[in-house]
Amino acid sequence: MADHYRILVVDDREENLDMLREWLSSQDYYVRCARDGREALQMAREDPPDLILLDKVMPEVDGLSVARELKKEGRFSGIPIVVLAGRDDASRRTIVDTTPADDLITKPLTFEEVDLRVRTMLKKREVFRALERANEELRQANEKMSRLLRFDERTDLFNYRHFMERLDEEFKRARRHGNYLTLIMLDIDLFKHVNDRYGHPAGDQVLKEFGAITTRQARETDILARYGGEEFAILLPQTAAVHGQRLADRIRRITEAHVFQAAEANDSIRITISAGVATSPTNERIASLEDLVKAADDALYRAKQDGRNRTHVDERSIAGPP
Ligand code: GH3
Ligand code: MG
Ligand code: MG
Repeated sequence: MADHYRILVVDDREENLDMLREWLSSQDYYVRCARDGREALQMAREDPPDLILLDKVMPEVDGLSVARELKKEGRFSGIPIVVLAGRDDASRRTIVDTTPADDLITKPLTFEEVDLRVRTMLKKREVFRALERANEELRQANEKMSRLLRFDERTDLFNYRHFMERLDEEFKRARRHGNYLTLIMLDIDLFKHVNDRYGHPAGDQVLKEFGAITTRQARETDILARYGGEEFAILLPQTAAVHGQRLADRIRRITEAHVFQAAEANDSIRITISAGVATSPTNERIASLEDLVKAADDALYRAKQDGRNRTHVDERSIAGPP
């Protein structure tokens, strides 16, 4: 047995405690004793054991009350409780039927019966434990899965799929309230050269670091995503094009000045980015989220055409004088 099972024995009579402690310790169980119900509750809560042997009749807080109290707490659902009751106790059946105790041992105690019940209950405990472990694994797997569904693993930004869902929501919301909604598309310039020159893993690191730069510059309410390979998107609710332009340009300047470190390439890598900005409903031709994406994409294309390392704002998205 790798682990010694821990058993809490509760009885108000010293000779019963002594006997049980001696028997159980000789079987390699780790035994703790409580002399009344209150002490039992305290010890069980402070350090939950694997099994509780509980005398039924005790002054003040009796055994059944202790069992009821403990089983109310979720963490005790997997810890068996065995009640010790007299042979001619008229309520033996009632105990089994109406209390949350898991089993009953008849007094006067015999070693054979205690031994058998304890073994059976500890098997039950093992089943509970295995179930708990399986549940925990499942919970972790679910958590990982739901993260993977929403996030890009490389950059920790939202992935394309989740971004489109958020864009859909935000577009509808902006329409409903007549608010501005600005979309920035960012694309790393000539990124192919970074891969060619420093290797694909170095390129991956640049993407991760660029994601971090973007995150630092954006506000809490901005929605950031890795839109594609080396293309990123930022959605700015309740924001006009000019503020989108400012953010894009700030990220552009910081990126241009930043020295990217690639661990393996042992090189300093410099990059620039191009950005396209579009805003609804200033550009009244933008009637759908697809139109918004297209307008920002077209603006990005213009920035590339004009020589890269620049921000281009869709002309129709710029608000005129009030
Ligand atoms: P442009 O300025 O016109 O955007 O030039 P570009 O080279 O950045 O554009 P292009 O679309 O021709 O190439 C994009 C490159 O980005 C090619 C592709 O291998 C690389 N890329 C895309 N995703 C990843 C990635 O996850 N990791 C790495 N290391 N490279 C990637
Ligand atoms: Mg590119
Ligand atoms: Mg590209």
